[in-house]
Parts: sequence; C-alpha cells; structure tokens
Amino acid sequence: MVNRPPPMVHYSPSAAFMTLWVSEWGIPFRCFWSWEAERRSPMTTGLTSGQLASGGAIILDRGTWSPRTLPYLPIWPALLANILFYFTLFAATTAAARALTRFRRRRRGQCPRCAYDLRATPPASPCPECGTAR
Ligand SMILES: [Zn+2]
Repeated sequence: MVNRPPPMVHYSPSAAFMTLWVSEWGIPFRCFWSWEAERRSPMTTGLTSGQLASGGAIILDRGTWSPRTLPYLPIWPALLANILFYFTLFAATTAAARALTRFRRRRRGQCPRCAYDLRATPPASPCPECGTAR
C-alpha cells in the first residue's frame, strides 16, 4: 500500500492551495485507488492542516501522519489483469495437484481416476470399478 505519495497536483485558485494525494493498491497490479485532498489558506502553515477531504477508501486507522486506508475505486484494466492472474494461478495449481494425484495412484498400482487397486487386474484391461483405460 502506498501511503501519502508525493503530491501530484498543486494549484492556487483564489490565493489558497490544494494538495491531492492518490493512493493505489493491488497485488500484483495496482487495481484500486483512493484520493485525499487538503485545501489550505495562505495563513495556514505547513505544520497545521487545512480542510481535508477524501474519497474512495475505507479508513482502517487514522494515524498521525499516514492513515491506513483500503482503497476501493477500481482501476478496471489492472483489476481484470489481477482476476486473470489469480484465475490462472488457481487453475495451474489445481491441474498440478490433480496430475500429482494421478501419478501417485499409477505408481501405487491404483486406477488414476478412482484409486481402485489394479494389482490383481490384467495389465491390458480397463479398471473394473470405473472403466478407465490404463
Ligand atoms: Zn477406476
């Protein structure tokens, strides 16, 4: 999570100035964002804060200098890329676990599909329990 990145926008309409912070969060791609703006009058020093406004985040903890927030405004391309990334990771993990199970069952002399004990079955014949060819 990015807490208080460098100010991205400074402008001074009517002798006041505003600072805008944008926070982005996401793994592996930053796919959610939030904003926080502070408006200060010229009389306000750097040590005292002006008017604060924020949006797009659930505030978890209001710290002194950097609040911990959970942004929820979506960055759609990155969000879709993250969904694709985690789906691929899940599918690859599941396929690897199934392949390992089939490999272990064959090594033990069991049917790779139903784990029926095939040691007493002739080698060319299919599984008598589920019909899977060997
Ligand atoms: Zn079987």
